[in-house]
Amino acid sequence: MALSKDIYKAFEDVVGAENICDDPVIMPAYHSAELGAVILPKNTAEVQAIVKLCNKYKLQFRAVCTGWTGMFPKGIIYLDMRRMNHIVEINEKNMYAVVEPYVISAQLQAELMKRGLHLNMKGAGANCSAMLRGHGHLDQTTSGDDRNQLAIEWVTPEGDIVRLGSLGSSDEWFCGDGPGPSLRSLINSAVPPGVTPGVFTKSAVKLYHWPGPPSFPIEGESPLYTMSEIPANMMVRYFSFPSVEKMWEAELKIGESEISFELMGFNVSMVAANITTSNEEETEVFERLNKAVQGPGFMVIIAGNSPEDFEYKKRVLQQIVSDADGKSLEAVEDPRIEGILLCQCIRISASIRETFRNGGAFNSIPIMGQRDLTIKWAIGAGKAKEPLIEKGLIVDDGGAFFGWGVEQGHLGKTEIFCKFDPSNLEAKAAVEGWQKEQSTRAFKERYFANLLMGQTEEIGPALSNYHLWWQKFTEAIDPNGVSPGGGALV
Ligand SMILES: Cc1cc2nc3c(=O)[nH]c(=O)nc-3n(C[C@H](O)[C@H](O)[C@H](O)COP(=O)(O)OP(=O)(O)OC[C@H]3O[C@@H](n4cnc5c(N)ncnc54)[C@H](O)[C@@H]3O)c2cc1C
Repeated sequence: MALSKDIYKAFEDVVGAENICDDPVIMPAYHSAELGAVILPKNTAEVQAIVKLCNKYKLQFRAVCTGWTGMFPKGIIYLDMRRMNHIVEINEKNMYAVVEPYVISAQLQAELMKRGLHLNMKGAGANCSAMLRGHGHLDQTTSGDDRNQLAIEWVTPEGDIVRLGSLGSSDEWFCGDGPGPSLRSLINSAVPPGVTPGVFTKSAVKLYHWPGPPSFPIEGESPLYTMSEIPANMMVRYFSFPSVEKMWEAELKIGESEISFELMGFNVSMVAANITTSNEEETEVFERLNKAVQGPGFMVIIAGNSPEDFEYKKRVLQQIVSDADGKSLEAVEDPRIEGILLCQCIRISASIRETFRNGGAFNSIPIMGQRDLTIKWAIGAGKAKEPLIEKGLIVDDGGAFFGWGVEQGHLGKTEIFCKFDPSNLEAKAAVEGWQKEQSTRAFKERYFANLLMGQTEEIGPALSNYHLWWQKFTEAIDPNGVSPGGGALV
């Protein structure tokens, strides 16, 4: 769906001939062969000019950072943000960093570690944008999602530049709210499916203390990085428990005592995926580890701020785990495996393997919220997977669900996968049925509402009619309908 010559020329005048393309040979490399054009703006002024032209010509647009997700209607103007890749500021004193859209988490993390600082990285990987909200392995100490976004520079769907939070009132980036009513929840993709309208052009993200070395002593090659030397103040362990209740008891106490740097409720299948390089090896390791655990479990990373702090944290961890009848998985005590897990789970480099594992495709139900509630629901959803496993429709991944603590357990994430062969239509239908049934149960039994399933007419009234408010909001800020939603952000 090529643009007319005149319209193409109007966009070209903004970014230059080198930074716009509608070549049908190139388009498929960008999500879809049916894009209107791909445009690469270099700064906020260019983004604003492009958005204004989109309004003038009634063309839909959507911005993309690293492009892991997103849905792109035919003919859409695709803003590839890769030229906006600068770290604008690292404010060590007030602990925030200001970044442009294409600063990836790995880039920012490396700069921050030199300064004893760290950030929340999306579980999707260090290759993703540092600017957009996300959650993952590090949430226990770096919180997750919109909690990490501070002031934001935003080009609205009509092409106005809005400086949200403290940026608008004091030219400073330290706060995402106020003064007065805040737009934060509306522009942070809080309402699924991942629908932030307009374009973020700069954002401040919160920073946290990094207790590790100033540069990560990495060795090896993707997908199996390891550390040349395990830092003297760091330790990784995996503990399994006789029951979910016992696991939860330990998780809560670890949160209350604030001893863990990371608490990741992997099932052993995900541990196997992290420490192997092929499906064959992974299956063999998974089967071995699965026999060595007594039930559900989690991985913990402990990091001391001094030798005494490290010893103290290890002792508290030991006490908590033994009180809950936990058992350490010996394989993870091997320093080689510890090194791999430290690399994969602090630099977040194995998520594709963790997520897809053997099976080829998956459907999942992700829940962010109160972890004890979501675990209770997930036990039932896991049981409902068993008949599908028995019939050979989905892969047995050695654990009904996984998840992790957020903010030392004040919040949490739980997610449950069904992995299947996408060419098996019976399996696909069964998994979709399971997903719908378990989401409906979650809503009816008042555990949570899975907004990703799109049952808004039923769910909306129970949630203050959020869907109607959202519709009114988008109509008000996007009268020409040029900034459509971008697909689910899991
Ligand atoms: C295997 C796998 C694992 C995942 N695991 C996680 C996880 O653990 N945690 C998690 O949080 N997510 C996860 N995701 C979901 C999601 O893919 C990523 O969070 C996200 O896409 C990462 O890429 P990005 O931040 O560079 O954004 P992109 O993929 O570039 O964009 C994501 C969405 O935001 C829009 N967008 C991009 N840039 C802008 C901008 N400047 N202004 C306005 N809108 C914009 C895009 O149009 C798109 O709709 C996972 C996805 C996959 C495939």
